[in-house]
Amino acid sequence: MNESQGKTGLIIEEPLLWEKGKKGRCGFSLPSRDVDPSPMDETLTGEGPDFPDLSEVDVVRHYTRLSTWNFGVDTGMYPLGSCTMKYNPKINEKLAMLPGFSGAHPLLPDALSQGAIKMMAQLEQDLAEITGMDSVTLQPAAGAHGELAGMLIIHAFHRAKGAAPSKIIIPDTAHGTNPASAALCGYRPVPVKSSEEGILSVKAVQEVMDEDTAGIMITNPNTLGLFEENIKDIAEIVHTKGGQVYCDGANMNAMMGMVDMGRSGVDVLHLNLHKTFSTPHGGGGPGSGPVCVRSHLEPFLPVPRIIEKNGAFELSGDFPESIGRLHAFYGSFAVMVKAYCYIRTMGPEYLKKASQLAVLNANYIKERLKGTFHLPYDRPCMHECVFSDKNQRAGKITTLDMVKRLMDYGFHPPTIYFPLVVNGAIMIEPTETESREDIDLLVDAFRAIVEEARKNPEILREAPSRCKVRRLDETTAARHPCLTG
Ligand SMILES: *Cc1c(COP(=O)(O)O)cnc(C)c1O
Repeated sequence: MNESQGKTGLIIEEPLLWEKGKKGRCGFSLPSRDVDPSPMDETLTGEGPDFPDLSEVDVVRHYTRLSTWNFGVDTGMYPLGSCTMKYNPKINEKLAMLPGFSGAHPLLPDALSQGAIKMMAQLEQDLAEITGMDSVTLQPAAGAHGELAGMLIIHAFHRAKGAAPSKIIIPDTAHGTNPASAALCGYRPVPVKSSEEGILSVKAVQEVMDEDTAGIMITNPNTLGLFEENIKDIAEIVHTKGGQVYCDGANMNAMMGMVDMGRSGVDVLHLNLHKTFSTPHGGGGPGSGPVCVRSHLEPFLPVPRIIEKNGAFELSGDFPESIGRLHAFYGSFAVMVKAYCYIRTMGPEYLKKASQLAVLNANYIKERLKGTFHLPYDRPCMHECVFSDKNQRAGKITTLDMVKRLMDYGFHPPTIYFPLVVNGAIMIEPTETESREDIDLLVDAFRAIVEEARKNPEILREAPSRCKVRRLDETTAARHPCLTG
């Protein structure tokens, strides 16, 4: 193997604390008590929880060692497609921790929360400007939650006109959460195939759009990392039949300052602050999925909404056509603070630059790896590029084998087997925060792996060999999880 980033050594097999515990071992010593036991103590003398007896050093080393097994954006490149695992400036974490923000209690009256509410009002305006939309709610706690909010808004819009359409058009390149959110709202998703170019054609939408269709949900850029360039014409067809256009903008990292969604015909759009706007994505939250709408949908936004009266800000529930409340209090506040700080420190010029670099990096990888891997859609991509394992299939080497081997080279694997429209997909999203040198290391690693696939395929089939854990039987792991070691 060539010089690589992956190394092992001094990694200790970690037993469970239950296996390590020894009766009578203790992590502290207290002087013997000099008062009589209180009656409460009697309740504690019975069967206690089954905690192991351990020394302080046992506990400190155990958890410190486990923490070194983690891999994240702070330790290395994490090119997970459709996820925007970019490095986020630590200063934004610090600002969100300022006592005025972190100590703000959501039950304080509006008059005592003016700074916090004003910050949210300005963030709403900033997001409206970045997307080209008119009004914003910050309430949804995740991308999929934003989708549900958007679907409820579209539903309320039709109901206000006395209509009750039952279907939603969803292309095969939409994110998997899209049909789920539509179905949760009671709509029947109507799938549409993308063209040979990997994007939605006007004709395909024309064929399925009718008066019983509430609208369309388009992921843009789509899950192939391609820009849906027919979106304006598609929106016109949908609007002519009374429908609304929902755009899944979770991957705004590719488009900040470059695309005006409002003028593209989009009526509703959600963003993922925990992808694009300085909150790390992954680990289960907290997230934030603001929903942006054009002005005709504003009355349906969830309550409470931020309003300004005589220079004072308040949270108002006085919107009779609103879809109601989506979240306890107002949403993931600390995530909003980070987004606000990120947007204000970057400014319009550098937000645009971040997107341009994200697109440049993905296209650089696409061009450098396209002879190595099969590239099903050979056209300029946005923030991510999608390859397949077609070139390696004759040697019976799969995407899974190759990305398992990538871990031996010190990289987190990219997204695999997604999107479903590409067989054996390898979906790479470098983000703007990777340098050319780091991207070259990834490219070199993939090229070395493909070379190994030809010369020594057994290495790949057994990969990873240098990681803490070897290849897992993922089916058994999912069906019979063993949680006790
Ligand atoms: C990540 C993502 C989502 C879902 O966002 P969550 O916050 O995980 O619910 C939806 N659509 C697209 C295109 C995404 O990339």
